[in-house]
Amino acid sequence: MRVIRDEIKLCTDCMIIAVNADYSGLQYYLDGDKLDAKIDQINAGLDKLGPNLVMSFDPDFQYDFIIELANDARRELGLPERTNGIDEFDTWNACECCGTRLHGARYDFAILGE
Ligand SMILES: [Zn+2]
Repeated sequence: MRVIRDEIKLCTDCMIIAVNADYSGLQYYLDGDKLDAKIDQINAGLDKLGPNLVMSFDPDFQYDFIIELANDARRELGLPERTNGIDEFDTWNACECCGTRLHGARYDFAILGE
């Protein structure tokens, strides 16, 4: 298995459902037809992304001075910085699962394949 696509950005709702199959968070702000429509939208997005979707963000990643030094070197080499794969307040990227453009966190996922 190898990563065939990475830096797939998912919103918080889709992240929780993709990782835990937990739809309960949607009920805090949706009900009735709107809740059903959102669930359908997210399930369609997950179907499109496929069964080999894996989280590539790291909630336990700790920034420290070693990481900062490594990132200084990576910037000089034109390499992407190491991050935790979580953008706490993204205002640009639509969720690649449900398509929402609402401001908020985006979490990195990857798709594995042969
Ligand atoms: Zn989403």
